[in-house]
Amino acid sequence: MPRSVVILGRPNVGKSTLFNRLAQRKIAIVDDTPGVTRDRKEVLAQIGGHEVLLVDTAGLEEAPPDTVAGRMRASSEAALRAADLVIFVVDVRAGLTPADRAFATWLRRANLPVLLVANKAEGRGGAAAAMETYELGLGDPIAISAEHNEGVGVLHEAVAEAL
Ligand code: GDP
Ligand code: MG
Repeated sequence: MPRSVVILGRPNVGKSTLFNRLAQRKIAIVDDTPGVTRDRKEVLAQIGGHEVLLVDTAGLEEAPPDTVAGRMRASSEAALRAADLVIFVVDVRAGLTPADRAFATWLRRANLPVLLVANKAEGRGGAAAAMETYELGLGDPIAISAEHNEGVGVLHEAVAEAL
């Protein structure tokens, strides 16, 4: 059984863009509209020398289970429970939101292995902006730009080390 690596984060932080980048082919839909990816997408991918089951989740959202958003959240939580490693993505351009902080708290309590990924950190000031995410208490952030393919090699190495 390949180990599962689950990409989590609130909507629009770049989870699907990162998923496509790591999968090296387009599978999930990436769109400017937040919350476009409604289903979990899974692919077998080679990451840092490991064959892993890479899972892109729908956005984690606080909502009752009888709503679409609630079912998306339930789906994300099911993927989480099976995860060998969680890639928790935040958006350094938007800055940390209450939702980011709530999910970080949840992840720390769940005691799952987590890599904190500070996405949209391209260009000048990107790495500095990523420093803000230390306060989530999930260790050193890995500053990347999924869209511009920056820092992705470092992320591959971190995944390999964590698995
Ligand atoms: P998801 O909802 O978390 O799956 O986010 P998406 O992957 O759908 O991306 C949401 C938006 O952020 C899209 O417009 C992407 O093009 C954009 N995006 C993703 N990664 C980056 C990045 O590294 N830098 C910038 N500037 N935008 C990005
Ligand atoms: Mg998505």
